[in-house]
Amino acid sequence: MQTPIRIDSRFPHMGTTIFTVMSRLAAECGAVNLSQGFPDFQADRSLFDAMHRHMLAGRNQYPPMAGMPELRAAIVDKVAALYGTRFDVESEVTVTAGATQAIFTAIAAFVRPGDEVILFEPVYDSYVPAIETVGGTAVYAQLQFPDYAPDWEQVRRLVTPKTRMIIVNSPHNPSGSLLTAVDLEKLAEIVRGTDIVVLSDEVYEHILFDGERHASLCGHQELAARSIVVSSFGKTYHITGWKIGYVVGPAALIAEFRKVHQFNVFTVHTPSQLALAEYMQDASRHLGLAAFYQEKRDFFRRLMGQTGFELLPCRGTYFQLARYGHLSDRPDRDFAEWLTRAVGVAVIPVSVFYADGRDDRVVRFCFAKVATTLEAGVERLARAFPA
Ligand code: GLN
Repeated sequence: MQTPIRIDSRFPHMGTTIFTVMSRLAAECGAVNLSQGFPDFQADRSLFDAMHRHMLAGRNQYPPMAGMPELRAAIVDKVAALYGTRFDVESEVTVTAGATQAIFTAIAAFVRPGDEVILFEPVYDSYVPAIETVGGTAVYAQLQFPDYAPDWEQVRRLVTPKTRMIIVNSPHNPSGSLLTAVDLEKLAEIVRGTDIVVLSDEVYEHILFDGERHASLCGHQELAARSIVVSSFGKTYHITGWKIGYVVGPAALIAEFRKVHQFNVFTVHTPSQLALAEYMQDASRHLGLAAFYQEKRDFFRRLMGQTGFELLPCRGTYFQLARYGHLSDRPDRDFAEWLTRAVGVAVIPVSVFYADGRDDRVVRFCFAKVATTLEAGVERLARAFPA
């Protein structure tokens, strides 16, 4: 249909998110889809049964704006058990429509036109569009290739009187790197005495390997007092399509968050919240996730030994980075597209997570897949690029 409106695009240069682009291309080409991050296996049947039961019991109307009290209580209990900080169920936790909405809402609640937000490249793709939508400016610090560790001296130099927020993400997508307790100390030193809000994206909080422990900002008293911490049930319970997550933080910050949240989504699907509140009661479900994914990581890395790809370390998340510069001269976007079409394996090019398109000839594989999917993908890769 034609429109008579001349559109002065608010975002003339914005394309479609790489996750949609690559999953669509994978489907078109019949490729093994190791691009977008989602499991290709089912969640636990009891979660579905619980949701169905709540629907049939008539729990289908609006929940409270901040989320069902049962779910908020379960979240508060989990956070207290893991990180030692007990947030207030009424005023310090809010259920969101996934982490994406939580992040967008937090940014909209705190960042004003002209404000600066410091974040780390490679940067998850939803942060900068949210900042720019509300008139803020993204200021980039670098995680240092190839171990993707933060350079806190650089961060210190980037802080100005206009810095409103710093966004951190650990375990980190796409690199699989982790922030440590020492990193949190450095961050605390930098923000001490300022009014900078920290937004901490911890959606992979339960997926850390080799016995590493998650350094949640919830567990750092000084940082917790100025942070909004985001998590997502999509990652933890294999239900990315349910789009449910949450934020926790001090009451004064969550009050500001809710001012936007109430007019953004107002609230989130009732029966899912009730089902999750029940499901969370068994802590082994989130505590067992690290071992579950470590087996997949190790299996995938072993299989990849049959190929010429050079694997980078993976300390958390369900993503594995690999260098391919010695195998092909193609820039990573071209390489990812070619790999999908010609080899039949879809991946994510890492340059999309850099504002200037920096290309280290690295691609990201998602290993949240059943063994047969990983085997099918690696078999194709090994044929194209044998070890
Ligand atoms: N976070 C997922 C990834 O990194 C994708 C989420 C999405 O598709 N928006 O692949």
